[in-house]
Amino acid sequence: MATVFEMIINGEIPSTRLYEDESCIVILDINPISKGHALVISRKCYPTFTDVPMETLSHMMEIARKVDQKQREVLKAEGTNIMINNSPASGQEVPHLHIHVIPRFSGDGKTPAFPKGKYEDGEISRYGEMLSL
Ligand code: AMP
Repeated sequence: MATVFEMIINGEIPSTRLYEDESCIVILDINPISKGHALVISRKCYPTFTDVPMETLSHMMEIARKVDQKQREVLKAEGTNIMINNSPASGQEVPHLHIHVIPRFSGDGKTPAFPKGKYEDGEISRYGEMLSL
């Protein structure tokens, strides 16, 4: 079944498009975390960050940076969250790669509430060894 983003790319459902080229499009998120929240979406449907070719991903990051610059210029955003939800366990709802670019302002209270934890004694070095690249 086509994802909602494929339907947008094919013009089957409306969107507010900010940019498009041969490998990605940029639209406004319909339920913004803050107004101007944009999505950089790959034209081809790669389900996750893990699936996308590096060349496409780096191009999408370049476009995300342009969106960040525009949000800073026009909306006077003081910062942005550049975010990819990668697989359903992380909160990804639409299985079609996209980068969120969310305008942020000091004191806007929108920081995601990721509760921070602690390592037990010696655990951090074990994780360090397991995850060392
Ligand atoms: P994620 O949870 O990372 O998969 O994010 C999916 C995003 O797509 C959510 O922030 C939704 O608000 C957004 N979204 C879903 N449907 C539409 C749509 N028709 N137009 C624009 N944004 C959408």
